[in-house]
Amino acid sequence: MTHNTTTSTRWTPYDSEVQYLMSTWGDGYFTVGDNGHVAVTTREATMDIRRVVDTLVERGVTFPILIRFQDVLHGRVVQLNEAFRDAITELSYENTYNGVYPIKVNQLHEVVEEVLDAGRPYGMGLECGSKAELIAALPHLERDDTLLICNGYKDQTSVDLILTGQLLGKNVIPVMEKYDEFLALMAASRQRHIDTQFGVRVRLTTAGAGKWADSGGDLSKFGISIPELVRLMDQLKEWDRMDAFKLLHFHLGSQISDIRSLKKAVKEITQVYVQLRDRGCPVEYLDVGGGLGVNYGASYASDDDGINYSLQEYANAVVQTIKEVCDMHNAPHPVIISESGRALTAHHSVLVVNTLGMYRKDEVEPDFAPQDDAHQVVLDLTETLSWITSETELDLAQLLEAFHDAAGKRQEADTLFGFGYLSLEEKALAERLYWSVCRRVNRMLHAMDEEEVLPPELEALDTHLVDQCLCDFSVFQSALDHWAIGQRFPIVPLQRLDEEPDRRAVLVDLTCDSDGKVSSYVSANDDRRFMDMHALRPNEPYYLGFFLMGAYQDIMGDTHNLFGRVSEAHVYADDQEEDGFYVEKIIPGTTVQDMLALVQYFPQDLHSRMNKIIRTKIDDGTIRPKRGFELLEQYKAVFNQHTYYTRHDP
Ligand SMILES: *Cc1c(COP(=O)(O)O)cnc(C)c1O
Repeated sequence: MTHNTTTSTRWTPYDSEVQYLMSTWGDGYFTVGDNGHVAVTTREATMDIRRVVDTLVERGVTFPILIRFQDVLHGRVVQLNEAFRDAITELSYENTYNGVYPIKVNQLHEVVEEVLDAGRPYGMGLECGSKAELIAALPHLERDDTLLICNGYKDQTSVDLILTGQLLGKNVIPVMEKYDEFLALMAASRQRHIDTQFGVRVRLTTAGAGKWADSGGDLSKFGISIPELVRLMDQLKEWDRMDAFKLLHFHLGSQISDIRSLKKAVKEITQVYVQLRDRGCPVEYLDVGGGLGVNYGASYASDDDGINYSLQEYANAVVQTIKEVCDMHNAPHPVIISESGRALTAHHSVLVVNTLGMYRKDEVEPDFAPQDDAHQVVLDLTETLSWITSETELDLAQLLEAFHDAAGKRQEADTLFGFGYLSLEEKALAERLYWSVCRRVNRMLHAMDEEEVLPPELEALDTHLVDQCLCDFSVFQSALDHWAIGQRFPIVPLQRLDEEPDRRAVLVDLTCDSDGKVSSYVSANDDRRFMDMHALRPNEPYYLGFFLMGAYQDIMGDTHNLFGRVSEAHVYADDQEEDGFYVEKIIPGTTVQDMLALVQYFPQDLHSRMNKIIRTKIDDGTIRPKRGFELLEQYKAVFNQHTYYTRHDP
């Protein structure tokens, strides 16, 4: 039991930061202001997120809203590059770092442009993994030396496009994932008389750790094995094209949890590098792939969502390991490339979700008294309740007894109802009394000082008594990784954080899917199945912020229940503005019509079908023609509405 209800000191915004572990995952960007609102701080200004949401609502933006804080994205790009710069200076590394942004993490044009803009002083490039991504990335290579790394298995069209990029003098490097890809590239380059360059993804024996461990190691989908690499070298020598081999690459998988597995992989790839150099192969670039992790919740612990290193430690580990192996073999230091995606984009977007209602188990009123002719089972339950309500000091054994009494009576009520001896109203009353007893017992348990080990039935009370908070969003659209792989995202109320949260709730979404809920939370509690929040007040909006949503989530979201894309707002910090920000762009969410078109329903056909039904009813006299056409208009009007909950102002 960690709850302590005897504290008399006032709850402060700082207490909320601790409760929601904000210093762990917030990375200095997210804090709680004195007004109890979550704030985001960038170089430019500090912005009150609740204020941003209010501004958007005033401008007619509908929930859920994904807010992109472009300055946070900018800040992360700078942070990554500076970390490598520092490591290079600190360790006297004799070459440079060159980051490339893997656009699959978030392909949105504004995101890619912001990354390129922030990374321009550092020569930041791009990475693509498919044909469509290649098409999008190629025209963004402003300078000739800007890198474009092409991963993924490539077809003839992609190979031709890559060669075209090289012909135009751009620094495009296709990475060979399979041996036959290498043969295809060389054949096409000979045919077009282009001196191509390429890299090789090596299948290392080191596997990552964590959820994406299979991306590296013997079981990985992609990569050229060591025997194939030897064959490839022989082939190049025979063609006298050793000069084309420019880059070595590996990718351990996303969210590397343990820095040791990274070091091991870097050591292994550098060993390959020095041996290739030794054989006269002029490899210039060593690409350590993605995998730089983000701390979603846990501290530096061996927790599923945690990583055991900082951004700086990651950069130091890469630079130092490469340097050590190179120096040992007198090999020149290569240009270091990393393909960090998650670590750049995760922080910058916040999903804002509106709460629609809070549901809790029905209890009896505090002054409840049964009627004289009430059923015995109701009287018994009332007696148990009065007993524990009147006592202020009960020990564990007495609380257990009270709970057993109530549970037994509730079971009895169920049985009586089954045989027809109890009315619906009496059964309802019995249930409400039962929940009142449970709530009281639970409250007294939490108030007990000692760290008692509780009997399982009392331990389970927390779960049974938890509230349900209905939220206007879809887990499948906006937090796919939560549903698919149990990824936890920090969720924090955007307001009232200067008040102690007095409710524990499970967040459920709008989909008709029992999986459509958030089942695990980032919190200081031992029990992470619930979220601490405040009781909702009538006519007072209560918004929740889902943080670290910028990597993978919005781009992988699906269309379960046809909810679709959420509204989006791009916000910039500006200390010249009164509120410290301005809204640069608003992209409305998907409409009903857009979503239906995806599954081949089209307005014309639906309208005419509905029209036919209504006409039949007019013809047979069920409704008047005027009413009939009103109903049709009402049906048609919904096509342009957004798919999420639409609030009707009376
Ligand atoms: C997905 C991927 C990345 C990005 O990984 P993050 O963990 O997001 O940094 C980088 N490189 C390759 C080859 C990838 O497949």
